[in-house]
Amino acid sequence: MNKKYLLKNATIYDGSGSNPFKGNLLINNGKIEEIGNIDNVDAEVIDIKNKALSPGFIDMHAHDDIAMFVYPDMDFKLMQGVTTNVNGNCGSGVIPHSSADIINWHPNFDGIPEWSSYGEYLELVDKSKTSIHSAFLVGHGPIRKATTGNEKRMPTQSEFDVMKAWIKEGMEEGAVGFSTGLIYEPGRYSNTEELIELSKVISSYNGVYFSHMRNEAGHLIRSIEETIRIGEEAGCSIEISHHKVSGQENWGKSVESLNSIEEARSRGLNVHSDQYPYNAGSTSLFAVVQNNAFNEKSVDGGMGSQTGDKILIAGSAKDPSLVGKTLGDLCDEYDLPEQEAAEKLLKIDSGIFVVTEGMVEDDVARILAHPTTMIGSDGVPLPGNPHPRLYGCFPRVLGKYSREEGVISMQEAIHKMTGQSAEKVNLNDRGFIRPGLNADIVIFDEDTIIDKATYEKPRAYPEGIIHVFVNGELAVEDGKQTDLRAGKVARRS
Ligand SMILES: [Zn+2]
Repeated sequence: MNKKYLLKNATIYDGSGSNPFKGNLLINNGKIEEIGNIDNVDAEVIDIKNKALSPGFIDMHAHDDIAMFVYPDMDFKLMQGVTTNVNGNCGSGVIPHSSADIINWHPNFDGIPEWSSYGEYLELVDKSKTSIHSAFLVGHGPIRKATTGNEKRMPTQSEFDVMKAWIKEGMEEGAVGFSTGLIYEPGRYSNTEELIELSKVISSYNGVYFSHMRNEAGHLIRSIEETIRIGEEAGCSIEISHHKVSGQENWGKSVESLNSIEEARSRGLNVHSDQYPYNAGSTSLFAVVQNNAFNEKSVDGGMGSQTGDKILIAGSAKDPSLVGKTLGDLCDEYDLPEQEAAEKLLKIDSGIFVVTEGMVEDDVARILAHPTTMIGSDGVPLPGNPHPRLYGCFPRVLGKYSREEGVISMQEAIHKMTGQSAEKVNLNDRGFIRPGLNADIVIFDEDTIIDKATYEKPRAYPEGIIHVFVNGELAVEDGKQTDLRAGKVARRS
C-alpha cells in the first residue's frame, strides 16, 4: 500500500527547463497528485527546506541489462538520483539469449535465468525487483551474431526476416528503440544499407535509432552523417550515443559535429545525442586493439590514436592484479611496444576493460552546452575499477558543469536528464513534475551536489542527494538507500 507524502517548501525544477519555483508537492498512490500551496492534508510531511526537487533522472545510456539481475539494488545508479535506465545501448542486447551472452557487457551470466523472448526477459526483470525502472532498446549485436555473424556482407533475405522479426518482437513488447555498436563485433561488419533496412522496423512504432557510431575520431563527421542518413531513410528519430571527439588529432571537431546535427534538424529530422561528462571513455581492450588505436596514422580506427600512458586497466576477471596499472606501465614491465603489450594482455584475459583518456575538456563542455544533448552515463558495472561515470555522472553534470563552471544552468542540466529524455524515448509517464505522472522524484542540495567517484577510487557515492522517490516511495532517505525495490519495466507510451 503506497503512502501519501506531502513534500513542503521545495524549490521545484519541473523538468521542462524553465526556472524553478517554490511550492509543495503531494504524492499519492505512486503518482504526483498536486503541486502548489497544498496544506492540511492527511499525509506524511517532509520539509524539503528549500532544497531542489526534480523528476528522477533518466540514464539515456545504460548497460545494465544483465546487471539488473546481478545487482538488483542498483545502488550505483539510484544513489546518483537515477530512477530510470535506458538499457541495451551500443548494440548490446539480450535477444537471442544464446548470442546475448557473447555481446552483453557483463562477465557474469552464472545463475542468470534463461529466456527465449523479450516478453520472458522483461517478466524476469520485473520479478528481480530492482530499485530503479528499466526501459530497453533492441540491440543489433546479438541478432546479427545469431544470423550473419562476423561476416562482412549484407544479410540474406531470410536472415533479414529473422532479424526483423526479433526487432518487431522487442518493439511490440515496448522497446523504446534499436541500438547499434559499429566499432564492435559483429556490428562493425554491417553496412549502412543493412542498418537502414533494419531501422525501418522501428519507425512505425515511434522507435529511436541509437548508435555508437563507426568512428568517433578522424571520421567523426562522416559517421554522424551515416547515423543521420540511417534515421532519415528509415523514417525514425535519431540518438547519437556518447557524443565525443576522440584522439588529440581530432580535438575541436565538436564544432562541426554539432553543426551536422543542427543542419539535419533544420531539415526536420529529430536528432539528438547523449553524453557522459568526462574526458575519458571506457571500453574493452579488444576493441581498442581492433580499432588500430596505436597507429597514429590510422584514421580508420574508430577511436583515434591512443597512447599507453592514457590507457588504464579498469577490470580483468582473470587477473585482477592488472587493475590500476596503465598500458604504459605494462609496456615497461614487458619491455614491449603498445600494440604487442596489448596483444599479450588479451592472451591473459580477452575480457580486459580499460579507461582511455582521449578527449579534451573544450569538446566535452561544448557538446554538453548544446540544447540537443542529453545525459547518459554509459556506466558498466564491472568488477575492478569501473569508469567513475557509473557512480558519478549525473551529480557531476549538476555540480561541476552547472554550479561550478556555469556551462549550463541548473534548469537546463535537469531538463537534459529528465523531461527532454522522457520525450525523446516516448516515456510519457515520467520526466516532469506534473500531476498524474509517476512520483519518481529526486531531492538534492544544489549548493553541495557533486560526484566523488574518481578513476582511482570509482566506487564512491556522490554528495548532495538527499531523498529519492521511486513510484512514490522512499528509495533513498536522508542520503541512505532503503530496502525499497519498486523498479518496473518502462514501456514505450
Ligand atoms: Zn558505446
